[in-house]
Amino acid sequence: MSLYKINEVFESLQGEGSYTGLPSIFVRLQGCPVGCPWCDTKHTWEVDPDSIATSTRVMAETSESNSWFEQTAQQLIELFERYGYVAKHVVITGGEPCMYDLTELTSYLIGLGYSVQIETSGTYEIHCHKGTWVTVSPKVNMPGGRPVLKSAMLRANEIKHPIAMQKHVDELDQVLSLLEDGSTPQIYLQPISQQKRATELAIKTCIARNWRLSLQTHKFIGIE
Ligand code: SF4
Repeated sequence: MSLYKINEVFESLQGEGSYTGLPSIFVRLQGCPVGCPWCDTKHTWEVDPDSIATSTRVMAETSESNSWFEQTAQQLIELFERYGYVAKHVVITGGEPCMYDLTELTSYLIGLGYSVQIETSGTYEIHCHKGTWVTVSPKVNMPGGRPVLKSAMLRANEIKHPIAMQKHVDELDQVLSLLEDGSTPQIYLQPISQQKRATELAIKTCIARNWRLSLQTHKFIGIE
């Protein structure tokens, strides 16, 4: 079975997008070359061979450690059981999870009855089970120089875009032009850092465009 490089696994509530409020197991994969300046998981960017550790040690570390461990899909299920996780929804995030071929992992989880969601920047081809819910949060013109791919936009079940100013809405329009007639992903605007001006812009734009508002509810209620 394939090995996945994992930075963190934890159980919480999904705070964003269409699954908001759903108990979820988050699997954060290590590695991301996209380079978003505001990224709050910069510790996942590098896959440093010196930072590999056992799952027990990585699970005991803080959520901002750059340590990682390797697991197969089957070992990951055993880890869920060892830590007593009971949620039936798994969110595969990063880092940039689509650096990995996720077909085996998503198929295994779905085969066991989990619903599975991927959160990706849209800058990699997406390889996963067809029943996976794909959230694309398109990262446009980032320092890593990776373009948002049309194939990723077309695979998206939901598109979730953090905004603080009109420029970010314009960027979203730019990548939405990659969609084709008949593709109807749910579109969410998410105010960055709960800023008042960002929230007002998001509300106004959602109403005008018939898009949805996504709030980072986990931050309002103080959970990870
Ligand atoms: S794509 Fe995600 S993990 Fe990668 S730099 Fe951007 S925000 Fe961070």
